[in-house]
Amino acid sequence: MTPFIFLDLDDTVFHSLRKAPTGKVLKAAAHTRDGRVVSFFSEQQLAFLELMQGHMKVIVTTARNSDALSRVRFRFDGVAIVSYGGLILDEGGNPDACWSDRIATQLEAQGDDLPDLFDHLESCARALDPGLRVQIVVDHELALYVVVKHRDADNLSLSRFSHDVVMGSELIRCKYRVHLNDNNLAILPRWLDKAHAVRYLQGIYRQQHADAVFFGMGDSLSDRDYLQLCDYALIPSGSQLHRSVFSKGLSDV
Ligand SMILES: [Mg+2]
Repeated sequence: MTPFIFLDLDDTVFHSLRKAPTGKVLKAAAHTRDGRVVSFFSEQQLAFLELMQGHMKVIVTTARNSDALSRVRFRFDGVAIVSYGGLILDEGGNPDACWSDRIATQLEAQGDDLPDLFDHLESCARALDPGLRVQIVVDHELALYVVVKHRDADNLSLSRFSHDVVMGSELIRCKYRVHLNDNNLAILPRWLDKAHAVRYLQGIYRQQHADAVFFGMGDSLSDRDYLQLCDYALIPSGSQLHRSVFSKGLSDV
């Protein structure tokens, strides 16, 4: 068997301090551009990550762009899917040219509506709650999607913004899909999905390894589609996806 695991990062193998397990030893997992550590591994998470890295080909499958991935304090030495599938990086950190061509074609077909969308969302955010932060996620000069967060992780404010402003936009309803998980609101072109990149890589790996077995691990509803492409799915307990799958709780045993 040649095992591969498509592995989400944030809230799957590490957490922000706000969501990190209490009373446990924590280790730095990722930092901001100015060097502030904002994400942490528990010892258990780090041990599990090392276990996976030791026995499987780990393919990072993340919404982080290449720059944000470079600020994760764990050495991943394999292929990585970044920016929700907008880019695939090879072992050397260079974009897969064939995949980038496909994305460039999609971006061209989409037209140049992202700057206008950003302006609209930012002006609404400023008027509603100055704590809201709107950003276009750019990777290797490709403007791919919009993310909105709240400076103080005010989930109620972010949820209201999603409902009243984002879902109120006809452009977004027609051409984008919206994903809200905790303090992260992503507005993604419909063609941008981790699952497309996973399917592409699985096609390559199946040709190279007749005995390929695919695992997927992710915490979020936006990870569900790529997990369904895998032979086995791992979902962190207590995560958004876990709550969705196991919403009924334990039956009497
Ligand atoms: Mg995640």
